[in-house]
Amino acid sequence: MASTPDKFQKVRIVQRRDYTKDLWTIRVALEEPLPFKPGQHATLGMNTGTKHLERAYSIVSSPLENEVEFFFELVQDGALTPRLYELVEGDTFLMRRQAKGLFTLDTKSGHPQHYLVCTVTGIAPYVSMVRSLVLEAAKGTPVAVRLVVLQAASRSWELVYHDEFSRLAQAHARLDYIPTVSRPWEDTAWKGEVGRAEDVLRKHLDARGLEPATTTAYVCGHPIMVENAKGMLQRRGFSKEFIREEVYWVPKKQHG
Ligand SMILES: Cc1cc2nc3c(=O)[nH]c(=O)nc-3n(C[C@H](O)[C@H](O)[C@H](O)COP(=O)(O)OP(=O)(O)OC[C@H]3O[C@@H](n4cnc5c(N)ncnc54)[C@H](O)[C@@H]3O)c2cc1C
Repeated sequence: MASTPDKFQKVRIVQRRDYTKDLWTIRVALEEPLPFKPGQHATLGMNTGTKHLERAYSIVSSPLENEVEFFFELVQDGALTPRLYELVEGDTFLMRRQAKGLFTLDTKSGHPQHYLVCTVTGIAPYVSMVRSLVLEAAKGTPVAVRLVVLQAASRSWELVYHDEFSRLAQAHARLDYIPTVSRPWEDTAWKGEVGRAEDVLRKHLDARGLEPATTTAYVCGHPIMVENAKGMLQRRGFSKEFIREEVYWVPKKQHG
């Protein structure tokens, strides 16, 4: 049997919500607190009996919440997600005791505006950032930054957190939320923005006055979107220093 290394704690699923056949969120209760900054990721793991598997997952919840939330996409031929997918409320798995990552809101840049671009599960770190600012604001801490979130998916039912972000954007003048769908022919009821993140990124940047001199950009999720979006931003005058990226996986090599 593979053992539980002491760098891990056991976490218990207290809530599971399924959105599509391959997108779901969970909230977990911890044995001990996990210190983290909004935007960081946790390392989740499982012992299969013969080997130990672990992968990085951005933390969705704010450090100000009691439970820790994650948003998963099932990778059919993946090693860990099919196993995570089997878990129900009450089940346990492993989480490293330390959170990691530098994909946090860059307040040192001095930029008052932050453009947060993502595909599907790439919304996770932005949910943590937005919830944290909202919870801080509720305690009376002034919010000094403006956040513009551009979330892309193939179809609107993959825009998990759409309702939460729409509601928060209505309530907070410093949050702007732009959901976009790239396969509107499969989602004929969708009345919002249409196109991939990289197709509409420039239009919304210009329309909202997100100038390179005053804006830090963040791109998170699908590796091809991240690459294309970075190219767009650089052509618009953003220096590499002010484009932050979190790539969720490495694309498989094409043969032939
Ligand atoms: C910093 C960081 C944060 C992350 N946060 C999240 C998160 O919040 N939610 C989340 O679901 N994932 C997240 N990921 C991806 C996650 O770590 C795993 O790579 C993913 O869940 C697949 O794990 P697996 O073991 O099931 O598949 P693997 O066995 O690792 O992968 C099998 C194959 O699928 C490809 N692949 C991996 N993920 C995808 C995908 N989503 N779509 C298509 N192909 C894929 C891989 O390139 C590989 O070729 C994050 C990754 C990083 C680096």
